[in-house]
Amino acid sequence: MMLSTLELAIELISRPSITPHDAGCQSLIANHLQSIGFIVETLRFGEVDNLWVRHGQTEPLLVFAGHTDVVPPGLLKQWQFPPFTPTVHEGLLYGRGAADMKGSLAAMVVAGERFVQAYPDHPGSIGLLLTSDEEGVAINGTVKVIDYLQAKGDRITWCLVGEPSSVNRLGDTIKNGRRGSLNGHLIIQGVQGHVAYPHQADNPIHRFAPLLKTLCETQWDQGNEFFPPTGFQITHLNAGEKVDNVIPGELEVLFNFRYSTEVTHTQLQAVVTRLLEQYQLNSKLTWRHSGLPFLTPAGTLVEVTQQAILEVCSYQATLSTAGGTSDGRFIAPTGAQVIELGPLNATIHKVNECVRVEDLETLATIYQRIIEKLLR
Ligand SMILES: [Zn+2]
Repeated sequence: MMLSTLELAIELISRPSITPHDAGCQSLIANHLQSIGFIVETLRFGEVDNLWVRHGQTEPLLVFAGHTDVVPPGLLKQWQFPPFTPTVHEGLLYGRGAADMKGSLAAMVVAGERFVQAYPDHPGSIGLLLTSDEEGVAINGTVKVIDYLQAKGDRITWCLVGEPSSVNRLGDTIKNGRRGSLNGHLIIQGVQGHVAYPHQADNPIHRFAPLLKTLCETQWDQGNEFFPPTGFQITHLNAGEKVDNVIPGELEVLFNFRYSTEVTHTQLQAVVTRLLEQYQLNSKLTWRHSGLPFLTPAGTLVEVTQQAILEVCSYQATLSTAGGTSDGRFIAPTGAQVIELGPLNATIHKVNECVRVEDLETLATIYQRIIEKLLR
């Protein structure tokens, strides 16, 4: 039975799939697609449900990727309608995940279904890659499915991630890349003592101050056509016990780089390490690299998506690499062209998350148009 995009979105939102739980979203989609000829593989890693669904055996392989998990609803009393009771009100569909990204999932499934029914013997393959671990640590999700696909020789040609990329109207923005993300945890060691006897102590805050200034003023790169310059932000700075007579013995600093493709994470690490030596700080520094940058410059996928949006919406989409990381970071290193296209992102992760009902159907039409342009 064919569901409308709205009906499927409602079914998905009513399943409270807070990370890492899938709450039956994937089986709903899998059963539906299996009944129209898709081959379904369920891939559970740790406590995370993942799904790989494919129609066709040959290349090129166009994959729609996304996540069934959602972030927690937050303060329930601030929701106009209960977050897991999808409600249509004044042309908007409300519910946790409406925009990020169950609306997109519904549009993908409907687009794939319509395409396969119209062109059952299409060339190439169409795939759907879903995880319930995107909003969390992302260890047992897309990254593991990609390992699995690579091991069995499935090579993704084009990948469209359904993250909510639109800013003011549906399809006005396509994400064709994301900045990398690198986290540092720095401990500056000093010597604790009485404030009245500073010569018997060594204040780590004072030690760090000149380096803090340098870190904040450094131009890491100039960015490029697709990326803004690399950014550095201190996210946590802590020393002392909130008293006024003790020089603290230690300073803890957390910081993050959002970096462009003009530098690598190892280059950034080397610069910070060199500065610590230059300022002669007694320190301990550990790193956590949370995402490589990726970039899909002009090419088939970007062009076809821009054309599809122009045909359906009558306006031109702009390319952007702004925003946080996404699962595109795990797919792009395989050599696939990766873009993100989805609904408006104004309400994502907020209370009263919503999507325009009209946009759901339009998004399905855009997705279907993209498939037709690539696999027909
Ligand atoms: Zn998302």
